[in-house]
Amino acid sequence: MPGLDLTADAVLLTRAICDVESVSGNEGPLADLIEAAVRPLPHLTVRRYGDTIVARTELGRSTRVAIAGHIDTVPLNDNLPTRFEEVDGERRLYGRGTTDMKAGTAVQLKLAAELTEPVPDVTWIWYDHEEVGEDLNGLNRLLQEHPEELRADFAILGEPSIAGIEGGCNGNLRAEIRTAGKRAHSARGWIGVNAIHLAAPILDRLAAYEPRSVEVDGLVYREGLNAVTIHGGVAGNVIPDECVVQVNHRFAPSRSPEEAVRHVEEVFAGFDVRIVDIAAGARPGLDVPIAKAFVEAVGAEPRPKYGWTDVARFAGLGIPAVNYGPGDPLKAHTDDEYVPVDQIHAVEAGLRAWLSGA
Ligand SMILES: [Zn+2]
Repeated sequence: MPGLDLTADAVLLTRAICDVESVSGNEGPLADLIEAAVRPLPHLTVRRYGDTIVARTELGRSTRVAIAGHIDTVPLNDNLPTRFEEVDGERRLYGRGTTDMKAGTAVQLKLAAELTEPVPDVTWIWYDHEEVGEDLNGLNRLLQEHPEELRADFAILGEPSIAGIEGGCNGNLRAEIRTAGKRAHSARGWIGVNAIHLAAPILDRLAAYEPRSVEVDGLVYREGLNAVTIHGGVAGNVIPDECVVQVNHRFAPSRSPEEAVRHVEEVFAGFDVRIVDIAAGARPGLDVPIAKAFVEAVGAEPRPKYGWTDVARFAGLGIPAVNYGPGDPLKAHTDDEYVPVDQIHAVEAGLRAWLSGA
């Protein structure tokens, strides 16, 4: 396999790393290529942990930024190798990984090689296993085993954001709300207690619920509380003795996980509430000077991020973090995944301007 040319145009570099298939669990060959390309660069200190590669400048700057991108993709569906296509006057690169998120990763690789003396010190991180479980996630492993590698004043993830800045993210909670009845033959239903009927007030409360819009550090986050599954029933002639409504609560990053739990327990007061899982949100942190300078240099209006992303891992360390990358997140994981080439160049120009103090 030929090596990666980090001096190539970022679009061609995107194409090159997309055409090296790296479905989660198979990042090795791509990680090898990345390591081989950055290891010889004298301005970077490079360490490898499994298939995660960390490359740092050590210029003794007063601020350090972490810039990270994952190198894995979801499985293919006949969408490699990549191909260019012009649609409605827009030049696009199609193929698995183009938007999520190798275009962002390619821009990072190019700038890591090019910017030998960035204004802040930079920790570049290219990591494996983002698209699968929490326990395998390369960034999470780094956080658990080598937290010093993540230490920074500000962090950027190159996940697709249509070349705009997406700050922070909502927290995410799932809970089961249960009702308990009494089983009986439906021919003598008066002997039993119907657990599905008992669930009616749960649905009433959900239907009447008015989610908040909450401003956090200047960005407005929309919350949500929704039933996502409902289970109950035994057979066509049995009064059911249990009904479980699973609800999903997306909560603004101003609310702690504990507060979100309390809120859900309040909404469903009187019911058996069990929390299934919970992930804290992340404040955008755009009020710190280094983040302000970033927003100014990039010249994009920050937007709130609603979904949960790895920016929350940095936020958990008290490091403000944003998403900034080419491609539309709505195209991630789709069979016709693509990235507009203009957005690759826009993110490249934005990051270069900020890091070089231009
Ligand atoms: Zn991604």
